[in-house]
Amino acid sequence: MTTPLFGGIEGGGTKFICAVGTGPDDIRAETRFPTAAPEETLRHVVGFFNEQTQRLGPLASIGIASFGPLDPRPGSPSFGHILPTPKPGWTNADIVGTIRAAINVPIAFDTDVNGAALGEWRWGAAQGLDTFIYLTVGTGIGGGVFANGRLLHGLLHPELGHIALPHDFKKDPFEGACPFHHDCFEGLASGVAIEKRWGQCGGTLPEDHPAWELETEYIALALANYVYTISPERIVIGGGVGQLAHLLPRVQKKTREVINGYVQSASILENIETYIVPPGLGNRAGMLGAIALAEQLIRGK
Ligand code: ZN
Repeated sequence: MTTPLFGGIEGGGTKFICAVGTGPDDIRAETRFPTAAPEETLRHVVGFFNEQTQRLGPLASIGIASFGPLDPRPGSPSFGHILPTPKPGWTNADIVGTIRAAINVPIAFDTDVNGAALGEWRWGAAQGLDTFIYLTVGTGIGGGVFANGRLLHGLLHPELGHIALPHDFKKDPFEGACPFHHDCFEGLASGVAIEKRWGQCGGTLPEDHPAWELETEYIALALANYVYTISPERIVIGGGVGQLAHLLPRVQKKTREVINGYVQSASILENIETYIVPPGLGNRAGMLGAIALAEQLIRGK
């Protein structure tokens, strides 16, 4: 029996990554290109898979892990579409329909962060867990939730980046950067918020800059809220800001302080270093997550 070959598409707001393979040790082709208008971008995607299937053989399925908001509910009239978004040209873009019209294979469609969560569960830092979250703190903030052995969707999909946090205007007069809620978590702590507040991007701010104390506090408050509401067995933090080496130990410590002994679990009280962790798949979590979505569609879960 030959192992089925999968296609994966990580659809990001700034770049698309497409790959063909079966897992982290077996990626047989990969390409990346900037996200342009939907027609041009999806033409690129279809071109890549047509070329690779001629070279490598047919795909069993394709998984798409995309920026959102989006409709991941099979059977819904807008399944496979991007929902209203500030990103020019992408509102109501029919990603699944466009790809399916050109490539006749089953297609799985979910958020980039749900995809990354599934990838971390399959091959990364969340293997063997029943309930965990994958949070990305980068240009934007979003999170995937894996609960009781499967990805959580509910109405559409969780929006962990848009929760409300206590905002002390005396300490942080910045009004927030979210076009919908101003000072939600993403509005206060995303890469965009850091750049707007301090006038320079996070990557250029030194480790002892006050930006990081504020950032640590917002992330810790958000994580404490997820601990209370979702009770995850682990929290995986990715994204450009999330993966800053100096930030993680501060976030671990601060989160334990914020929870203040209320959740009586050794994971938090004694082992916070293995409770809040970076992605096991590093910056490949999104692309491999898309492959994992494709695999799950065929194998079932
Ligand atoms: Zn918001």
